[in-house]
Amino acid sequence: METIHLKTVDPVSQELLRLAAKNGIALNWDRYEKLQPQDGFLRLGLSCPFGCLQGPCRIDPFGRGPDRGLCGMDRDAMVAAMLLRICLQGTLTILNDIALSDAAPTVSFAPGLKKSAAKAIKGVAPKSLSTAQIFKSAALLQRPADPFGVLLEQTLVLSLLAVGLLGQQVHEDKGKDRTVQAGYGVLSGGHVTIAIAGQPPRKLVEALGSAAAGKSGASVRLVSLGDWIPAAKGYLPLACSSAEAELLLSARAIHFLVAGAGADPGVIETAAKMDVPVARAEDKSDAAKILKSARQFHSHAPRPEITFESHLMEAGVVTTALTERKGSTPKKPKSRFALLGGSDSLHYPLGHLPVALAMALRGAGIQVAGWGDAAVWMMKNGLTSKKASDPVSILDPQLGPLQFAAGLSLAGKPDRLKGILFIGGKDCRDLPVALGLALLGCKVAFADPIPFWGSSSVRDRLSDLLAANGGQLTGFDHPAEAQELLEWFTK
Ligand code: SF4
Repeated sequence: METIHLKTVDPVSQELLRLAAKNGIALNWDRYEKLQPQDGFLRLGLSCPFGCLQGPCRIDPFGRGPDRGLCGMDRDAMVAAMLLRICLQGTLTILNDIALSDAAPTVSFAPGLKKSAAKAIKGVAPKSLSTAQIFKSAALLQRPADPFGVLLEQTLVLSLLAVGLLGQQVHEDKGKDRTVQAGYGVLSGGHVTIAIAGQPPRKLVEALGSAAAGKSGASVRLVSLGDWIPAAKGYLPLACSSAEAELLLSARAIHFLVAGAGADPGVIETAAKMDVPVARAEDKSDAAKILKSARQFHSHAPRPEITFESHLMEAGVVTTALTERKGSTPKKPKSRFALLGGSDSLHYPLGHLPVALAMALRGAGIQVAGWGDAAVWMMKNGLTSKKASDPVSILDPQLGPLQFAAGLSLAGKPDRLKGILFIGGKDCRDLPVALGLALLGCKVAFADPIPFWGSSSVRDRLSDLLAANGGQLTGFDHPAEAQELLEWFTK
């Protein structure tokens, strides 16, 4: 317990951690500690990603053990294949999200990025950029027959495709701002609380919203456990960040869990441990049954040992506008910008990086915008409040930095963007998006280690390919410190 401040910067979360320990409830942090040290081969990219059953083969990073896989694949090809594998999964996820929204997938770059995209496409060779590149990538990952340069170039093609697919969503959304609230304060009062983790079907969220608004029985509210879930006027209130979901379930403040696509197994298991009723997306539960079950559980469930005060909450506005829209270009002509976002990472005390960096960057005169869990932490700490000087902007959780990068580029001011930092890499979409933005000329970094440290040849070739279009991707071979990330932004 003496290390509790190393787990989260939020005093309320620290109190909840003490209660969970007192009550003997194991959480994600306990699993994280048991998993140390995590697989060093995988972290370096030296664990074969081909899925061939003759393995698994791993290559010794120090050159004292195996220097090739059973099939003869060397370390450069293994690392490049690992990057391709991650980017393939990430691109498929983006494609799936588009399919769920009933849109036909098209590749479309925001106006500000079109010129860089055309140059980047020429640089990495494909005649055209289409979803056919997904099949080509899968074929390259069938058996290790190609040199690392081919795998790496295909990784960049896929990354560009990922950004082009997301670009479709930039155009579809007409820049409508959306409201959101975040913080434990959304749980104040004695309401029946239905929590959502992951992304359940939109229709179910809407039906739950309508049912909860009904006048009969105890009042019911819907909250999210860290996922940004579109709701009527914006997003569901975020009771916590994604890595705090288990912690909040352990606090007995939730009376039903709806586990949608992407909900972590640990979240569902914690709900079960606390006897909280759960519906998974595939259960096809209807809203009325969920409401009834939540009310029943609320009527006899033990009350939380902590009171969530209403002031522990901040409201904000998520802008989906490109900065190119009329009236939305930076007010200060010489403004510089830093974009921070992505998921929580247990490599750090939760909230530490986004809050410390946002404050330091603002202190250095750089305007900050955030998305994902990073934005939740900025909201929880009042950094997005209109009352704050130079409030942090909240970016669309799906598009993340894309809209901003495109807007500055279109305004002819790409150099005003000091960098884009992905704080955590939980979502496999992040790596192709980061690589794609770097290929379009942005300066991008990942705080969580990227699995490319097993091959200096891959890193060097990647740097050259990105630099040809003016971009860069910085990775660290360790969880990066706030100070080195600040220097990365400001140097
Ligand atoms: S593809 Fe080659 S390196 Fe990978 S597991 Fe199979 S034999 Fe080993």
